[in-house]
Amino acid sequence: MRDRETRWRRRMVRTQIRARGVSDPRILEAFEDVPRHLFVEERFRREAYADNPLPIGHGQTISQPYMVAAMIDSVRPEDGDVVLEVGAGSGYQAAILARLALKVYTVERIRALADGAVKALRSVGAANVEVIVGDGSHGLPGYAPYDVILLAAGVREIPAALLAQLAEGGRLAAPVGGRQHQVLALIRRTEGKLEREELTPCVFVPLIGDGGWDEHSSTVSGSDARPSEEGPLSVTVQRKTHVDKDRTAYP
Ligand code: SAH
Repeated sequence: MRDRETRWRRRMVRTQIRARGVSDPRILEAFEDVPRHLFVEERFRREAYADNPLPIGHGQTISQPYMVAAMIDSVRPEDGDVVLEVGAGSGYQAAILARLALKVYTVERIRALADGAVKALRSVGAANVEVIVGDGSHGLPGYAPYDVILLAAGVREIPAALLAQLAEGGRLAAPVGGRQHQVLALIRRTEGKLEREELTPCVFVPLIGDGGWDEHSSTVSGSDARPSEEGPLSVTVQRKTHVDKDRTAYP
């Protein structure tokens, strides 16, 4: 007998992901395997498999399943790839990526969410993911270059630091546009040149930070923005998250 979550998940893959054109068997299998309900609060267990984003606290959301799939399908992670995700949130997208790639680095600016992501990722046995607290708009130069870079939050323009950390043959997907609405953009580095394609309209929470939006206004952070309290990125990167600091309850 399969449990109800497994049945909900199979239906999610069939009706929301495969029916909309994602056909790569490795990607479909990853979505069938990762228990999405373990990345949301217990009270959202059933909704975890619904065709929409869900709140994960701190004004942030876990993306709609199809949007996670469309983004991952656009960059096609391969077995040996090193991946950078900006915006760990619940950790769900990182868990899917962990099934498809060699190593996943994911940066999250809100420490409580990063702590929750670490806990959820541990609970599903994703050992090849590292969660780092900091402003991901600078990327993570220490582990660059990356074969795949994913922005899980919207930007007006893709930060130059992230483009610089994209490997030859690498793919970067990001929601680019206004604070409320964006288009999923795909960048490929081929023979040193960056090629850009626009895929589908989308709605993501804003990327907040030096290379993104200001936290409280609708303006883009500029050179007059105050330096982040986290300090320089090299310090932030050293501060890994630990499960014992978690306050969020996960099933
Ligand atoms: N991939 C996530 C979706 C998270 S929503 C999931 O599967 O659940 C986007 C996340 O980006 C939020 O958690 C938000 O806090 C984070 N974020 C916004 N700006 C950021 C920045 N500059 N650096 C790192 N994370 C950022």
